Amino acid sequence: MVETPNESQVKVAVRIRPLTSRETNEGGKVVVDGNAFDRTVSLSKRKFTFDSVFHPRVTQLELYSNIAPQLLEAFLGGYNATVIAYGQTGSGKTYTMGSEAGRFFEENSGKLCDNIGLIPRFTSDLFASLVQLREESEKALLRNWEVDSGSKRSVSLIDFRMSASFLEVYGEDIYDLLDNDRKALKIREGSNREVFVTGLKCVPINNSSEAMEILNTGTLNRTTAATLMNLTSSRSHACFIVNLHQTTRSTDGDELITTSRFTFVDLAGSERMKKTGAEGDRAKEGIKINEGLLALGNVINALADEEQLARGGRVHVPYRQSKLTRLLQDALGGNSQTLFLACVSPSDTNASETLSTLHYANRAR
Ligand code: ADP
Ligand code: MG
Repeated sequence: MVETPNESQVKVAVRIRPLTSRETNEGGKVVVDGNAFDRTVSLSKRKFTFDSVFHPRVTQLELYSNIAPQLLEAFLGGYNATVIAYGQTGSGKTYTMGSEAGRFFEENSGKLCDNIGLIPRFTSDLFASLVQLREESEKALLRNWEVDSGSKRSVSLIDFRMSASFLEVYGEDIYDLLDNDRKALKIREGSNREVFVTGLKCVPINNSSEAMEILNTGTLNRTTAATLMNLTSSRSHACFIVNLHQTTRSTDGDELITTSRFTFVDLAGSERMKKTGAEGDRAKEGIKINEGLLALGNVINALADEEQLARGGRVHVPYRQSKLTRLLQDALGGNSQTLFLACVSPSDTNASETLSTLHYANRAR
């Protein structure tokens, strides 16, 4: 059983990727040092401490194995779980998240490919765990039928349903990546203050291959839309959402229903506008996107503000500052478990962006 978290939990991790061949060709040198043991990242005499630090040799599987147990436990226990990737364009957000189209399974063995990211690993383990839970509960029920009525105990039968949505936040507009008809969608708040996007497709998924098909469809739509508008998808925030609906029926006739949501966010590039040399509409759009990132920083900062909590005061969490933060309200607040994953390049050629990412991530602690 999961211990009930009293308040939202935000953990901050940093992943330093290896030098890319482009950086090597440009004469880039490694200036970022990560230490997994004391959980620090150093860059030109500055040192930051985080909840976890992943150095360039950490594999996709090692990263997943390190972060997954707590998030899976919370999600299966009926709480929301969230993973957010932050960093400049090219820092490894999409690689880490696995929010890109591609092949997920080895052709021969049928196993997951080594280099795939977090989303397919999570969905694959989720189905495996849930199917196992259901099978165990069915076996317990069968065993119970075999004993004579005097020694019968109450047993529970567990069943579940999953569905997925995939959306993109572009400036202050929200688009459904599973809908070919690209129109901006609205955010609404339900009677219980639950935030939802009207008209967003929610596709039932029955196994992890179906989840990956959806991931493929959405990521292809994302790049196609960006190409049509002559932009790059690195300017939008992509959210892949898995909804879980669990029913536990006991032989006493009790029924317990829990719903939880797993949100994976591949944020827009955090780079400042100067460097990209954007002008006109592009610059405006960039500013809007950075407003979203700024608002997110403020929200995460407020959530992590233990000092205020310790003083017994209520922390004001400024969700309403942007569409991104409104959308993530349920994914970040309440009882959710959140991992904020800052991705950085190790190269001196990206040092100033890396420093700004480390500052941003450090503020979230
Ligand atoms: P972003 O989504 O932040 O713009 P990407 O995930 O597309 O960045 O990564 C940029 C490039 O670096 C890609 O070619 C990707 O395959 C590579 N890359 C990123 N992280 C790693 C890593 N940990 N190991 C190996 N290659 C990586
Ligand atoms: Mg990307």
